[in-house]
Amino acid sequence: MGALDYAVPAGLTLAPGDAVSVPLGPRVISGVVWDEGRLEGREVEAKRLRPVAGKLDIPPLSAPMRRLCEWVADYYLASLAGVIRMVWPSVAFLGEREIVEYRLGGQLPGRMTPARLQAVERLEGRQGIVRDLARMADVSEAVVRGLVTAGTLVAEVVGADGALAQPDAGFAPPVLEAAQAEVAGEMAAAVGAGGFAPYLLEGVTGSGKTEVYFEAVAAALEAGGQALVLVPEIALTAPWLARFAARFGCAPVSWHSDLKASERRAAWAAVADGRAKVVVGARSALFLPFKDLRVTIVDEAHETSFKQEEGVHYHARDVAVMRAREEDAVVILATATPAIETQVQAAKGTYRHLQLPARFGGAQMPDISAVDLRRYPPARGHWLSPPLAAAVTATLGRGEQALLFLNRRGYAPLTLCRHCGERIQCPNCTAWMVEHRLSKRLACHHCGHQTPVPPRCPECGEADSLVACGPGVERIAEEVGRVWPEARVAIVTSDTVNSPARAAELVRAVEAKEIDVLIGTQMVTKGYHFPELTLVGVVDADLGLSGGDLRAGERTFQQVAQVAGRAGRGAKPGKVLIQTHQPQARLMQALVAGDPAAFYEAETEARRDLGLPPFGRLAAIIVSSEDAAAALAAARAIGAAAPQMEGLSVLGPAAAPLAMLRGRHRQRLLVQARRSLALQRVLRDWLGAVAVPGNVRVVVDVDPYSF
Ligand code: ADP
Ligand code: ZN
Repeated sequence: MGALDYAVPAGLTLAPGDAVSVPLGPRVISGVVWDEGRLEGREVEAKRLRPVAGKLDIPPLSAPMRRLCEWVADYYLASLAGVIRMVWPSVAFLGEREIVEYRLGGQLPGRMTPARLQAVERLEGRQGIVRDLARMADVSEAVVRGLVTAGTLVAEVVGADGALAQPDAGFAPPVLEAAQAEVAGEMAAAVGAGGFAPYLLEGVTGSGKTEVYFEAVAAALEAGGQALVLVPEIALTAPWLARFAARFGCAPVSWHSDLKASERRAAWAAVADGRAKVVVGARSALFLPFKDLRVTIVDEAHETSFKQEEGVHYHARDVAVMRAREEDAVVILATATPAIETQVQAAKGTYRHLQLPARFGGAQMPDISAVDLRRYPPARGHWLSPPLAAAVTATLGRGEQALLFLNRRGYAPLTLCRHCGERIQCPNCTAWMVEHRLSKRLACHHCGHQTPVPPRCPECGEADSLVACGPGVERIAEEVGRVWPEARVAIVTSDTVNSPARAAELVRAVEAKEIDVLIGTQMVTKGYHFPELTLVGVVDADLGLSGGDLRAGERTFQQVAQVAGRAGRGAKPGKVLIQTHQPQARLMQALVAGDPAAFYEAETEARRDLGLPPFGRLAAIIVSSEDAAAALAAARAIGAAAPQMEGLSVLGPAAAPLAMLRGRHRQRLLVQARRSLALQRVLRDWLGAVAVPGNVRVVVDVDPYSF
């Protein structure tokens, strides 16, 4: 929905940013008063205007936030209303009244439907308002209300606000090393001075980036302002929260999708009125209504989880920079492995480049070497080569800890019938079902569809004919159990470490040396600091390199460098073994040599030659429908209407990488453009001129991640 015109009734004063309720047809909806600029050139006869119904008691959208909303809507080709909904989530409208939440209360409903059963199963241990419970259980709100009426869900009244502990900049300042102090001093001074200042804080793993950017947070507190720290995976923040509390004397405010409505409402209100001084959150925290935001830190800024791939497709890293610009504030992108885009900005001087080239406390960078898998063809059921196995044995022998990294959840990525050759696929997606042996299920990692592991082949009916192909982390754990039966193993994936409490327990167990071998997906690459962990084994470094993805090389490099960075962070030296079939590849060589610049320079040149981001612009147009023919026809119509212009090329339509996703057939067009071209305007005009039927959805992904 776009902007609409209303009359202001006598006695009501309104300013841009105010929240209002207005009539629309027979309904009353809420909206925001926008600046005139956006509406220029519109003339509506005054007497035809309906009046605004009233002003809502919500903190107004500040001018910087309005400018940010416009930028996000324009840049990502989203509707302004869709962006405003992120800034004013439903909790904003709950007001100060008490919030009634519900939780399971014993008595099962008299009539049990599949939807009700699903709700009862999924809401175990959860609590929330009706809307949120429906979302959590993936059922309609009517189903949830039915369970309330049946007495299955019982009310729990929670207060709206609580007192907030205030972080104290002077609580426990660290003693910084010289290099750290210099970098921290510069950022803190920028925060104190105010004004837009973007930084790339590039520090090798273990250099103390957190310690250093905490000083920028302290500077914001000293100036009486607010700070925001964006983290890629909120479930993993327990160790971070402990460090924050040790530095500032209390916890910050957390913001993420698993908060209860009452907590979210309280956090939202406290951010708006300035009581919440420091917020740590997932990417959506970027749209919180800070009263006086002085600094935003994007921690692990290279992480792909900052890219939102549904609803408004935005990149939180880039929006964070834009928000800082609108708010006249400092923004710090902290990482050991910056994205090429970020590197290029820093090299141009658009971002100030701060570096921490050495680990804290004299710890050495790990010794990295490649294991050439062509020399060690995998034996049945074995994925750890003799050199890696020997290194694990030696590490365990010294009483130290090892980490095995394989970016694949579950037991096996493919289940095959040995009788008829059937590969078990998701019914909703172009994807194989992944066996999860611990939970005895097959699961689709794209739509969440699950079934029990069938006793016989679903295609030919043969019994005991299904075989698991390839390893996932559970299968590596099985191998470790066979080879080192005494070793105590922990699997670290989003299946096993799915809450802050579990993440905290994992950290405790590893620190207490109750774990000898960690086996994990990309989740173990993030932020952990385990001084006794001295060996990292990368089981399959080639995994991410297949497929024609622009960022495959960059992502593999970042992932391996990050996981390697977990080794030898304390007094004991670390060793890293990378299993690969292509040890001669440039990125493997750069990793082994500990020379990231060699990789980055080559990768940057390749992008420049091909005119790929950040040297050229790229957008993906995804055309999807439950009806395959409709999706194809619409995609072809869009392709046929593509503007012919210098500096613009269109590829496709072709089947998207996930040709079917959640039951929708997907076609894709890729648009590549010269930097000088106003790509967004071209796309808007182009797509605006093509009519697509109601059963077809067209989504534009600007700066797409995978293709
Ligand atoms: P990075 O994020 O750069 O990998 P961290 O911030 O996790 O590094 O720091 C690595 C370890 O060194 C952490 O345990 C941290 O507490 C410690 N550390 C870093 N700088 C200091 C300092 N100045 N004083 C005390 N401990 C520090
Ligand atoms: Zn699926």
